[in-house]
Amino acid sequence: MATDCIFCKLANNEIPTNLIYEDDNVVAFNDLAPQAPTHFLVIPKKHYSSLNEISSQEEFGNIFSVVPKICAKLGIKEYRTVINTGASAGQTVFHIHVHVMAGREFGWPAG
Ligand code: AMP
Ligand code: ZN
Repeated sequence: MATDCIFCKLANNEIPTNLIYEDDNVVAFNDLAPQAPTHFLVIPKKHYSSLNEISSQEEFGNIFSVVPKICAKLGIKEYRTVINTGASAGQTVFHIHVHVMAGREFGWPAG
């Protein structure tokens, strides 16, 4: 755990939040500033500052394989998944997270 990382604190229940999903490896919670009617984040419990830090297929699988499960539970069939890697790509929190957004039309290419 990185002591100054807000998402580590969320994953370790040091900051109270409403988790929408939790298992041994990952948690998911609603984004504080939603960009779509549904907008949640999936993060590994273990700290990786970005996708560049993940070399384990297992860990990569952990954060992605839960996305369709959570969406099915929420009754969502169409959604946008995004991982911003690095400041110029829009990353502002340096603990890897998968954005999952749904409930509106999405343009392409992403802005
Ligand atoms: P990114 O810009 O890809 O790094 O995304 C970071 C996301 O984390 C943004 O969409 C923020 O709104 C969201 N965020 C930051 N702090 C919190 C928090 N405490 N709880 C939920 N979402 C957060
Ligand atoms: Zn962290």
